[in-house]
Amino acid sequence: VSTAFRERLRRREYENRIALVDALQHRRDFMAKMSHELRTPLHVIIGYADILLEELVPTEDDEARALVDRSRTCAVSLHRMISDLLDYAKVEAGKMEVRSEPVCVEEVVEQMEARFRPLIERKGLAMEVSCTGDVPAVTSDRERLEQILVNLIGNAVKFTERGSVSLDVCPLWGGAAPALAGFRFLEAGGRADEPARLAGPYVAILVHDTGVGIEAHDLLHLAEDFQQVAATAAGRGGTGLGLSISKRLAQLLGGRIAVRSRPGEGSTFALLLPASGPAQRAAA
Ligand code: ADP
Repeated sequence: VSTAFRERLRRREYENRIALVDALQHRRDFMAKMSHELRTPLHVIIGYADILLEELVPTEDDEARALVDRSRTCAVSLHRMISDLLDYAKVEAGKMEVRSEPVCVEEVVEQMEARFRPLIERKGLAMEVSCTGDVPAVTSDRERLEQILVNLIGNAVKFTERGSVSLDVCPLWGGAAPALAGFRFLEAGGRADEPARLAGPYVAILVHDTGVGIEAHDLLHLAEDFQQVAATAAGRGGTGLGLSISKRLAQLLGGRIAVRSRPGEGSTFALLLPASGPAQRAAA
């Protein structure tokens, strides 16, 4: 009897596992499909709002313009959240593809500066961009790299009310990296009390802000799915997915993200990408 009972239990466990795998796959497919379907009507709403503002609502009708503008802003932020979900679903399902191409990191950072400077200055913040030392060549996926930086810089702007947001590119030559002292890697297990040891040369892109900062205990859970720091994130929008997507994208690029922060003083996020060749400027 006991053998038959055990056999039945084993069979049931097997069936439960199959059902769970099936359910997870359905969930991933559903997320990927729905996120895609939801974006299409939003594109239309944003497009119509643009037409209303550009051509149909008279410039002197402030009230109507404000309403259309607010609807447009909501649609754009909903679109951003759905894009986050779509990316999350893709990474989860292992369907996020990354290219491998020579990328000039300094050029990408210049482009980020052009994109964000107006936004940063409109918020009354300063923007500084610097490049320290000769930056090695990187083989990466430019679009994904930009996506990570947009998220990190977007957060820096979102969580900073005064002071500055700055970008710095610098080479790290492997071994103990004193430049990373006090940083904690976003993956679990990152140490904050000693400089990270790097297996080889890396290029670091540091996104520094003088904003609200993050408490030490919140740093531990920062890149978990849907995590937001309640005290600071309230009322600022977002899904709590940006960093977990960025962390996974960085891993797909062979890199990592580290963070150092002090509440009330600001945060620095460092995106580390493995170098693939000699310094670009030296090679040029
Ligand atoms: P969200 O979409 O909420 O911004 P993220 O995953 O990008 O999600 O960030 C998770 C949380 O980490 C944020 O809600 C915020 O609490 C905190 N955070 C991220 N970047 C910063 C920063 N530069 N300064 C302060 N807090 C930050």
